[in-house]
Amino acid sequence: MNPRLLLLTLILLLAMNGTSASLLAQSQRSQPRGRGIDASSIATTVQPCGDFYQYANGHWMEWNPIPPDRSSWGAGSELYEKNLAVLHEILEDAAKNTTAPKGSITRKVGDFYRAGMDEARIEAEGVTPLNKEFARIAAITDVPGLQDEIAHLHRMNITPAYGFFPYQDFKDSTRIIIYIFQGGLGLPDRDYYTNEDDKSKEIRKQYVEHVAKMFELLGDKAAQAAANSKTVMDMETRLARSSMTQVEQRDPNAIYHKMTITEVNALTPGYSWNRYFASLGVADPGDINVAQPEFIKEAGKMLTTLSLDDWKTYLRWNLISATASKLSSPFVNEKFRFNGTVLGGAKELSVRWKRVLEATDQGLGEALGQLYVERAFSPEAKTRAQQLVANLKAALRDRLLALDWISEATRKQALRKLDAIVVKIGYPDKWRDYSGLAVDGGSYVMNDLQAGEFEFERNLKKIGKPIDRSEWGITTPTVDAYYNPNLNEIVFPAGILQPPFFNAQADDAVNYGGIGSVIGHELTHGFDDQGRQFDADGNLKNWWTAEDEKSYNSRAELIEKQYSGYIAIDMLHINGKLTMGENIADLGGLKIAYLALQKSLEGKPRPPKIDGYTAEQRFFLAFAQGWRRNARPESVRLQIATDPHSPARFRVLGPLSNMPEFFSAFGCEGRSSIARPEALRVKIW
Ligand SMILES: [Zn+2]
Repeated sequence: MNPRLLLLTLILLLAMNGTSASLLAQSQRSQPRGRGIDASSIATTVQPCGDFYQYANGHWMEWNPIPPDRSSWGAGSELYEKNLAVLHEILEDAAKNTTAPKGSITRKVGDFYRAGMDEARIEAEGVTPLNKEFARIAAITDVPGLQDEIAHLHRMNITPAYGFFPYQDFKDSTRIIIYIFQGGLGLPDRDYYTNEDDKSKEIRKQYVEHVAKMFELLGDKAAQAAANSKTVMDMETRLARSSMTQVEQRDPNAIYHKMTITEVNALTPGYSWNRYFASLGVADPGDINVAQPEFIKEAGKMLTTLSLDDWKTYLRWNLISATASKLSSPFVNEKFRFNGTVLGGAKELSVRWKRVLEATDQGLGEALGQLYVERAFSPEAKTRAQQLVANLKAALRDRLLALDWISEATRKQALRKLDAIVVKIGYPDKWRDYSGLAVDGGSYVMNDLQAGEFEFERNLKKIGKPIDRSEWGITTPTVDAYYNPNLNEIVFPAGILQPPFFNAQADDAVNYGGIGSVIGHELTHGFDDQGRQFDADGNLKNWWTAEDEKSYNSRAELIEKQYSGYIAIDMLHINGKLTMGENIADLGGLKIAYLALQKSLEGKPRPPKIDGYTAEQRFFLAFAQGWRRNARPESVRLQIATDPHSPARFRVLGPLSNMPEFFSAFGCEGRSSIARPEALRVKIW
């Protein structure tokens, strides 16, 4: 995913890829999905009024162990695998098609993929394709040289010390400015360096061993490798201690500090940002948002006072860590051992073609996406999806009009914002132009770095220019969706507009429970505790009256308390503050989808039961089955620490426990063990 998307974009996170799956088709005993609901998945011995997640998914969970190369396995992963199979065919065809015109996208993705599949060459070369890069680091002799090298690595999408990216100005969404962001860490979050529990200490110990092992693979003697690893850990710990927590960063005002270059220079005496920007290729930086000034002050201190040898060690680590998965097997395996196994709990590395496919998607996503939609997304599917979104929007409009707890002034603004939401479906109207990208690095790893640099250069050109609203933040085959508050848009790529979420053969109840609840989720993100701080034009600007804001916050607090009460694993609770926005969107999305379904049934005869379930029951079953998932304990811990989404079980039980519509659909009134007490029940929309 594009790093800038990590900022505020509210992504759905259906398929956690990272480590990808092997096809366990034989062991997946799941019914064909022609009729929408997977009746064979239902654990009929469980009471639907109790643990509905278990009821809807119990058999599926029992029959679908997590593949060894995966951290988790769920409905999103099943669809992801299907998309992978389509993409695999495309790439195999493209790689064989050596007569495709030079410069065509078929030729480019084919060349990229073929280089990645050339195992013999990759093994024979080892780390040698990076010799020139390591020599550059070794040749640094002063701080200006260090700055140049940091800029050089940033250009290749490797992010030592801090992050740089062009992004919309929070308070003037018509233009792109520079963002300087905290970063430079090898572990998934700053808390990994500061938490004092035994698990965190154990992960730190293993991380230090992993870094040392990588230095040994680069040829360092064991004692030197261990000393280098300690240097890296000390430096990263310093960066981590001055980093903001994820919860702190949820407040957009807390990460908005627009400065001139003179002001940025004043934060870091001795570290010249003019030199850094010039090295990057930015002629006139203009306004700069230093998202976390305290972090940049500390990084600046480190950049000017730590020894150059320490920095060279740290840069070597950054280079090898970012490229290991594209090198020979000792590097690939060591990277997987830590990131896949220790952090994610996966047991086996996934097959090569899947890893290369994911790299192709990352490097040439919109080229591959063009070839994908030709095979996997019809104009009819697009039309039906557009209709569904329009119906969901209409349902949310009804709710905003009827809401009894907001003033007319706020209501007017909310409606204005809803009407302004841009909807993107399937694939971009205008594909990204790859004509400037030459896939001729010779080796897989260099092709990959070139693709990173091409993307960097593309983003760099946007600085100071008017915003291009046609861009997409995720690629077409991705099993995900997002709301972007700065563009006030919702985006659903072709990858998620497939069964089980979206099924042209299934009845409305199933589609509203599946993709409908996803669409509702993204729509209401515009009004969650974070999204609501942006106006119809995507500017960070408060449009709420003080009293309405207070009412909103008291409702949001109920959500926080509810989810903080859930235990995800062992004694580990969900972080209600970190997950607040997603939980609000889950509840709102389901509610709006339900209302949209009711609206679609108005004036029609009651639909017949299918598989013994009413339309309403099928709606809730489709919703719950969209979230079915098995996850390894390691990956649950990782999710709780870093992910703004609650674990799948609570994404189902959390919203349902607040919804009287659910209780009446299954005749659970007054006898559901998951129902929230009336006084604590959350109702926002
Ligand atoms: Zn979301």
